[in-house]
Amino acid sequence: MTSSNTSQGFDVCVVGGGVMGCTTALFLARAGMRVVLVERDALCRSASGVNAGTLTLHMTRAALVPYAIQAWSMWMHPETWLGQGVLATAAPGLSLAFTDNEREILAARAAARREYGAQIDLLDPTAACAIEPGLNPAVLEAAHCTTDGFASAYLTGRAYHAALSAAGVRIVEQTPVTRVERLAGGYRVHGLDGAVSFDATRLVLAGGVWLEPLLALLDVHIPVKTLINQLIVTERMPPVMRTVLSIASGLLSMKQFANGSVLIGGGWQGLGDRERGGVETIPANLIGNLRLAQHVIPALADARVARIWLGLESETADAMPMLGALPGLDEAYVIGCVHSGYTSGPYMGKLLAQRILGETPEMPLFDPARLLATPGVPAQTH
Ligand SMILES: Cc1cc2nc3c(=O)[nH]c(=O)nc-3n(C[C@H](O)[C@H](O)[C@H](O)COP(=O)(O)OP(=O)(O)OC[C@H]3O[C@@H](n4cnc5c(N)ncnc54)[C@H](O)[C@@H]3O)c2cc1C
Repeated sequence: MTSSNTSQGFDVCVVGGGVMGCTTALFLARAGMRVVLVERDALCRSASGVNAGTLTLHMTRAALVPYAIQAWSMWMHPETWLGQGVLATAAPGLSLAFTDNEREILAARAAARREYGAQIDLLDPTAACAIEPGLNPAVLEAAHCTTDGFASAYLTGRAYHAALSAAGVRIVEQTPVTRVERLAGGYRVHGLDGAVSFDATRLVLAGGVWLEPLLALLDVHIPVKTLINQLIVTERMPPVMRTVLSIASGLLSMKQFANGSVLIGGGWQGLGDRERGGVETIPANLIGNLRLAQHVIPALADARVARIWLGLESETADAMPMLGALPGLDEAYVIGCVHSGYTSGPYMGKLLAQRILGETPEMPLFDPARLLATPGVPAQTH
């Protein structure tokens, strides 16, 4: 039976309005599907709006490099698919080594990424300091890649909102999905504890760290790990760097925006979980992150911290994405847990849309079935 608060006639219901869900919805709508996108909060307010905005191959897992290269071009040319952009700026990326051990790691990581198509060269200290004059001259070696840069992630929701509206997607915000019912030939997605629902022939789950409870609504059980990533932004300061910096063995990603503020991150952890969100920073981790940043760019000794925040990033047991059809269900799909997912997000969403449209995706997807948890048996970790 259909109640009056059920909206019918959608080809696809996408649950979760981060970069993954929004891009999938956008490409499906552009191909002519009637799409509803249901988001618990506002679009791109979770990981996709609070991330560091680094668009990099250095920190992307090697096997995901071909995807990240495609997505990097998409971010740099938003006029070709998104419309208004997110201030994506190309800048050289340097990953650094300060010890012999880090040099070994740097060489191995660069070689692995080159195998997948990344143009990464190893530079001696003189060449590295010529590209980044602010660098600590104690650097021993740097991996250099020109397919790098950064965006302002807080602009992501605004850009997608405009593009999705123009493509005719029905955007439903402030509506947590709490139940999914299987119908003959589709799904009924219930939001706001059943106050509203949407019928669609296809379902896409794109819930970031909340994918585990969302998948459980369909009785699909896949463990999803939650990382509580810390970010630090400084007050505006005179130019101290012009590249995107990371470190071979450690946790650092850093860049300076056009307004002078420096964003420092790299995966240092805070306290929290997916139920409560990011709750509290760990002082030792703030100090560690800042010390590492200042070691790399000594001029940061003059920086003053303006703000610190925590964001939630998802990871599967094998740290590779979930991207494809859900096992045992008709026309139900999942997208998420993509390492360096902001960088690769647009291309991952485009690929899933191709699969849903019955086309052959340009690159292979990542079958979620490999991650299914059997009671008492840990998920595969190859
Ligand atoms: C602090 C931080 C820094 C990062 N830095 C970088 C970086 O520099 N470069 C990079 O490439 N990547 C970075 N990442 C990773 C990147 O941000 C993520 O991989 C990417 O944004 C994930 O997108 P998503 O759409 O899967 O998830 P999200 O953006 O989390 O979106 C999921 C959405 O689903 C919604 N949702 C969940 N459950 C429900 C429900 N029941 N009903 C309705 N809606 C629901 C949520 O509200 C959310 O909006 C970083 C991540 C964090 C947290």
